[in-house]
Amino acid sequence: MTSAVVVGSGPNGLAAALTLAAEGVSVRVVEAADTLGGGTRSSELTLPGLLHDECSGFHPLLLGSAFAERFDLTGAGLTYRWADAEFAHPLDGGRGATLWRSVEETAAALGRDGTAWRRVFGPLTERFDAIGEEFLQPMLHVPRHPVSLARFGARAAMPVSALGRAWRTPQARALFGGAAAHALRPFGGVLSSAIGVALTTAAHAYGWPVAEGGSAAIRDAVLARAAEHGVTFETGREVTTIDELGPVDLVMLDTSPRAALRIAGRRMPRHVRAAYRRFRHGPGAFKVDFAVAEGVPWTHEQSRHAGTVHLGGGFEEMAATERQVNAGRMPERPFVLVGQQYLADEARSANGVHPLYTYAHVPAGYTGDATEAIVRQIERFAPGFRDRVQDTHVRSATGMAVHNPNYVGGDILTGANDPAQLVFRPRAGLDPYATGAPGVYLCSAATPPGAGAHGMCGYNAARSALRALR
Ligand SMILES: Cc1cc2nc3c(=O)[nH]c(=O)nc-3n(C[C@H](O)[C@H](O)[C@H](O)COP(=O)(O)OP(=O)(O)OC[C@H]3O[C@@H](n4cnc5c(N)ncnc54)[C@H](O)[C@@H]3O)c2cc1C
Repeated sequence: MTSAVVVGSGPNGLAAALTLAAEGVSVRVVEAADTLGGGTRSSELTLPGLLHDECSGFHPLLLGSAFAERFDLTGAGLTYRWADAEFAHPLDGGRGATLWRSVEETAAALGRDGTAWRRVFGPLTERFDAIGEEFLQPMLHVPRHPVSLARFGARAAMPVSALGRAWRTPQARALFGGAAAHALRPFGGVLSSAIGVALTTAAHAYGWPVAEGGSAAIRDAVLARAAEHGVTFETGREVTTIDELGPVDLVMLDTSPRAALRIAGRRMPRHVRAAYRRFRHGPGAFKVDFAVAEGVPWTHEQSRHAGTVHLGGGFEEMAATERQVNAGRMPERPFVLVGQQYLADEARSANGVHPLYTYAHVPAGYTGDATEAIVRQIERFAPGFRDRVQDTHVRSATGMAVHNPNYVGGDILTGANDPAQLVFRPRAGLDPYATGAPGVYLCSAATPPGAGAHGMCGYNAARSALRALR
């Protein structure tokens, strides 16, 4: 019987383990942390009874993915839930914009920019199943839906600053800019629109759902399926070298390329080692979870109904702050993502106090404290917020890397989304998962299709390993 060890139990490690085990491979997962799940863990970070997502909060790319479908994760207990609005972007003076599930409704609220919104996102939304199938694989493949992919590619290739000119009003520009900021890239670069276009289209097609009971419910659904196939687990053990794993046929590394080098570098060809050394990490995230009595008093009314709220002021202000963090400078008013998962999943709150999830974009390896900058950004759009805070839990950019070694310097995307790494991640080559060491594969978010708790990197990597075995 073929045997495999998966190092790391993030969503990609677990997806790789399940995909291999379902094909009859005997799989053991070894995890450094005391709990399984990597970026899909949830816990009471503040007050008792308040459930916070420790990392990933919203799952537009899991729903409908080949991995979730093949293993019927909803049948294994995963339930998606949605807030009334997918995301909102408050501006100064109580103005703002809201992304509703419906393209029509969103466009109608954007006034004279509605037509352009419809033109950009309408056709992509209609074809999102086909587009998603294409971009959730390595870039080098024969497309099954070339026309849809070309239409998506035409938008994705544009710099955010260029695509942003499709809209004139501060509201529409900010709405797109906030989604585009998820790439953690300067707005002027080629391909910098790719992630914003994908996430905005996904929001229209599937919404930005949360997992009922916290993102850990994703982990639990995969674990339930893994148990059916006899996968075994060991926690609290950091793998430092491949030799300690004993004789196995396959090793799947749910790690950063840097850690993969430490673990198996001696078995890799020189050109792969050199490529992994060159792998670039992006800016960091500084996360603060709050316990907030009665929720956030947003001045922009619709932000009170949105699962996600993007704070960063207008388009130009966000362009400036994203440029700054990429240049290693901490902005005075950073981009802040606010998650109000409890609006979709009420059981995460207790006694009228709600768990609020926030993180700011900060420079890589930022050692300062961004807590006050986050509170001030929220106060800017929700005066009185500070007085409602009952408790706070802080995870700094450097703390993020301690919590999970894949987030090097606080890089929650496990690799910069620069043009080269968007196309060829983690290195140029026909099989991005192969490390060149026999039987050793990289399966983390450092591989295609990149960051997100969708499991598709692990699923694709396992399929690549199975193909090589055959
Ligand atoms: C604050 C934050 C917010 C996010 N928001 C979202 C979101 O809303 N939606 C979304 O889709 N994604 C989001 N993400 C990103 C998402 O969580 C990650 O892209 C995803 O978890 C990557 O999965 P992975 O399996 O590649 O690695 P990870 O989830 O990072 O897991 C890697 C695991 O491997 C273990 N490990 C590493 N090295 C070793 C070793 N040597 N030995 C043993 N174990 C090891 C680690 O301890 C960890 O458990 C967010 C991330 C963060 C941090």
